[in-house]
Parts: sequence; structure tokens; C-alpha cells
Amino acid sequence: MTERNLTRTPAATERAWIAAFEAELPLHLLFPVRLTNGKRVHGIHLVCLRCGSAISGNHLRGRLAEPLPHVVTVTANGMCAHCNHLTHVDCRFRATDNETVVEWRGPNGNWYSRKMRRQPLLEEIVGRVRRWAAWFRPTQ
Ligand SMILES: [Zn+2]
Repeated sequence: MTERNLTRTPAATERAWIAAFEAELPLHLLFPVRLTNGKRVHGIHLVCLRCGSAISGNHLRGRLAEPLPHVVTVTANGMCAHCNHLTHVDCRFRATDNETVVEWRGPNGNWYSRKMRRQPLLEEIVGRVRRWAAWFRPTQ
């Protein structure tokens, strides 16, 4: 397996992400979404790939799609308030009978997945009313 340089995003791709960021809605306006199993997804929380700061609120923008009845995909770009770096994420929420699986593409192009869990701890840390049902670092 050859090594890839994970920090080098093609310039055209980066421009497209920035254009999307400028054109799209803050992601928090699009949530919560209800999946076919009745469970809700309250939003996502993104971590800046460069400095590790949390990106949320109006700094996180994107769009949702439902390619299948039980799948919601999220394409989002977050502009870090601390370092101005743009972090892109593709993820999707897949409903099973009684749980929700979150899958996301890491910066290396690989897909990762895990069962979604509640985030009471993060909710306390963030100290907001809004609940972050899914939290992931794209570098994971
Ligand atoms: Zn940053």
C-alpha cells in the first residue's frame, strides 16, 4: 500500500469546498432529522483538521440528502474560527431496526463507522441547549 499525503488537497477541490461553504446553509438549520427507525439525529460536530478546535454554529455549513429511505447523507464544510482552515466532511446516518450507525470518510479517503451514542458529556462541555447526537473527529 502506498502512502498518501493527507494534508495535500487538490486546489480545485479546495476551491469547490470554499464555494460550497459560502453558498450553503448553516447545518444546524437542517437538523434534527428523523430516520426511518424513528430515531433523531440532532446534528454533527466537527473538529478542525489543522488546529483541533470545535467547529459549530454558523461556521459549519452543508447539505443533506436521502439517497435511500433509511440513509441520510451529510456533506459539510467547516470554517475554523480560530485558524481559518476549512475542514470538509462527508458522512451518513444509516438507520437499522433499533439503532443508528454513523459512517464518515476520513481525510485518507477511507470510510469509518460506528454506532451512534448519546453525548451527555459533550453536551455538558459545550454548555448549550442544543444536543450533539453525533460527534466525530474526521481524523479518527
Ligand atoms: Zn483550526
